[in-house]
Amino acid sequence: KKILIVFGTRPEAIKMAPLVKEFQKDKTNFETKVCVTAQHREMLDQVLEFYDIKPDFDLDLMKPNQNLYSLTADIIVGMKPVLENFSPDYVFVHGDTSTTMSAGIAGFYSGAKVCHIEAGLRTYNKRAPFPEEINRQITGRIADYHFAPTTTSKNNLLKENTAESTILVTGNTVIDALMYSVEKVLNLENNLEIENLKTIVDSNKDLVLVTGHRRENHGQGFLNICEALKTIAETTNAQIIYPVHLNPNVQKPVYEILADVENVHLIDPLSYPAFVWLMNQSKIIITDSGGVQEEAPSLGKPVLVMRDTTERPEAVEVGTVLLVGTNAELIVNETTSLLTNNNRYKKMSSLHNPYGDGKASKRVVEFILKN
Ligand code: UDP
Repeated sequence: KKILIVFGTRPEAIKMAPLVKEFQKDKTNFETKVCVTAQHREMLDQVLEFYDIKPDFDLDLMKPNQNLYSLTADIIVGMKPVLENFSPDYVFVHGDTSTTMSAGIAGFYSGAKVCHIEAGLRTYNKRAPFPEEINRQITGRIADYHFAPTTTSKNNLLKENTAESTILVTGNTVIDALMYSVEKVLNLENNLEIENLKTIVDSNKDLVLVTGHRRENHGQGFLNICEALKTIAETTNAQIIYPVHLNPNVQKPVYEILADVENVHLIDPLSYPAFVWLMNQSKIIITDSGGVQEEAPSLGKPVLVMRDTTERPEAVEVGTVLLVGTNAELIVNETTSLLTNNNRYKKMSSLHNPYGDGKASKRVVEFILKN
């Protein structure tokens, strides 16, 4: 069987890498090729290097001032020769990006079976997250097979009349990636990025790690977030380390408000292994990222999510994640409470992770073998 795995952004690469490796292991049954759209160029390449994945097709679509109209069109048109050249039986896409939706449509046009990894996440709020909710809903309509990370996501698909026989609950491949990486990161010697982080981390302080990039938070949201981080740095004993996303809508407010604040360290986005190392060193993580809220509980780190709604309610239900929106007061109060209330902290950091056991990719490959 011919398998084409398509992705374009950093989080997709992290979550698809274990699947690429798993399919590549079985050369008797599968011919596996990787196509990157390079929706995020630099951040994608770091992940490919870490996993030693060499794309067979590279659409190299990142442009200055990328917009959704041309990106969507370019991906569909760019996929045509790839699909005609390789004629895959199965096209795998992941999650909720423009790459996911556009490569899904292109795969459908080619006649391949479209397989959606991390299927069934929903907010049912068309504009939050924007444009991800619509990307994932459309991909759900296109896909022939749906690999849902949890039963909650499977139930969303069933509610939409998706045939049960086409859905498999697998756990999230992000945990496969994390388990592989934690082991590798702990054995890494003389990694320059990690050595550099060691010079920044102050072991006498509680480390608060921050990431953020969601479009829905651009503008006032990021201004509130930055004001909250400033207050936390000024009023607690915490050290804040913040790898700042490369999007100019994020860079501008963050550097304007936080560049000169004591105890706040703004750094470039980290490669995945260095980020895993830093997550492991941190006490609390504040983020609007989807992947980070899934990873952190496996490392025993409480997460504050700077969003009003989440398509990942499982962790909120279990209690490893708190939704704080972009309300500055709430971010400051919850962070301060976790930094000072040891019982609350211990309880939150010892809860189990609802997102899987690290065997999601194996389950996907077994399913395809049987079908
Ligand atoms: N990540 C990384 N370097 C960083 C920040 C995050 O490698 O500086 C990883 C993180 O471990 C997670 C993924 O990138 O697996 C999350 O990506 P992002 O927040 O961009 O997207 P989302 O998860 O919200 O789709």
